[in-house]
Amino acid sequence: MLGENTKNIIDHLDEQGIELLEFIYVDYTGIPRGKTIFLSEIGNHLSSGTGITKAMPASTMRDEIVSIEGMNAVGEYRLVPDLRSLQILPYAPTVATMMCDYRDQDGCKMEFDPRVSLQAVVAEYKKLGFEIKMTYENEFTLYQKTDNSLEPYNPKICFAAEAMDNTYHFLPKLIKNLRKVGIDPVEYYPEAGAGQHELPIAPTDPLTAGDNEIRLKRVIKKFFADNELYATFAPKPNLKSASNGAHIHMSLWKDGTNVLYNRDDQLELSQIGYYFVGGLLQHIDALLALTCPTVNSYQRLQPGHWSSAYATFGKDNREVAIRIPSTFRGDRTNSMNIELKASDATANPYLALAGILSAGLEGLKNKKAPLTPVDVAPETLTEDMRREKKINRLPQSLGDALAALKKDSVMIKTFSKLGIETYIKVKQADIAYFENKTAEEIAAEHRDIY
Ligand code: GLU
Ligand code: MG
Repeated sequence: MLGENTKNIIDHLDEQGIELLEFIYVDYTGIPRGKTIFLSEIGNHLSSGTGITKAMPASTMRDEIVSIEGMNAVGEYRLVPDLRSLQILPYAPTVATMMCDYRDQDGCKMEFDPRVSLQAVVAEYKKLGFEIKMTYENEFTLYQKTDNSLEPYNPKICFAAEAMDNTYHFLPKLIKNLRKVGIDPVEYYPEAGAGQHELPIAPTDPLTAGDNEIRLKRVIKKFFADNELYATFAPKPNLKSASNGAHIHMSLWKDGTNVLYNRDDQLELSQIGYYFVGGLLQHIDALLALTCPTVNSYQRLQPGHWSSAYATFGKDNREVAIRIPSTFRGDRTNSMNIELKASDATANPYLALAGILSAGLEGLKNKKAPLTPVDVAPETLTEDMRREKKINRLPQSLGDALAALKKDSVMIKTFSKLGIETYIKVKQADIAYFENKTAEEIAAEHRDIY
């Protein structure tokens, strides 16, 4: 039996001319995948979901299935859509798309599914009276195809007005497409790298921020593909040029007020904010395995590139993992936020956001002693000075970050033992695959996949 609400949704979609419904999930590769069901055949799939083989969560970005007990050719999970996430694709107006959660045959949510973990950690904050706002600030590189090679499109210098002029023939349409899937762009500009652009969007609740991150990349890639260009969000698609970050901004609110703000602090950061940052830094090595989760990610995280290379924090410091951005005059309380720069778009966003929030929550609970912010690029200090100030380098390889993740009990609790075990195996398969490839080959393969 269809619930009244579900029947109303189907009728409404039918009236709007929708013929196809996408059931999308995101696995540990960070790549959205899914199945499409015809609206005419939808039956009770909106509530019971669609079947997906149990092997899929153990898949790498090359569709290699790693060996995990229970995740193999036998048996099915269900992909059950979150109806609140429904949007119509701007470039395919007869197709509605929905984000799904993994469930078992009895309808129980699977705790290895990052989207499920994110909802659980947000509920923890809610119990403490916190509302969370988060968003991604994505950089991406545009290429044009010439014969058999890819050349950066519009490779002007950073923030160049001339490069802006070369975007206005497509920008309004792109922005419109993003708005059509519920995304609220706030800025757009040419960045430092050849063909590099940036498009920050407005903050939302964490689950929507995860959904938006997936859809933003999809809409942008499709838009440029339709315009004979090619967009990649890979962290380091071009070894000779600036890297693509997907910085994450976050703020905590209580009763409608941003509780990260304190007018009297040197960083304008409240005690709650310091505890949250303390939690992030306590878990930063493990977190990195979630927010910078590919071999290509570590080609990006080099000192001197504004991508962050050190496990510390500072006011508007672009060389450290956590930047405390300046607030805006006239809107200081609302604009206060914390930015994680050590993050890129190869991550599963639900995994990244849930990892961040559970680390932050630990900080809030344990009230970790506030650290001293760093107001220089750590690379300019001597090794002794860095040691004295306890400024550590971030893990320099995916393998090192995974080793930290494996030992992190907070992350294991957040994503389940099975989730962490599967994630680590999937990522180790990537490490093994890229082991004998050149830096250029690694960059090129990630450019093409992400
Ligand atoms: N492109 C830099 C990165 O890889 C960020 C530059 C900036 O916007 O500060 O994160
Ligand atoms: Mg930028």
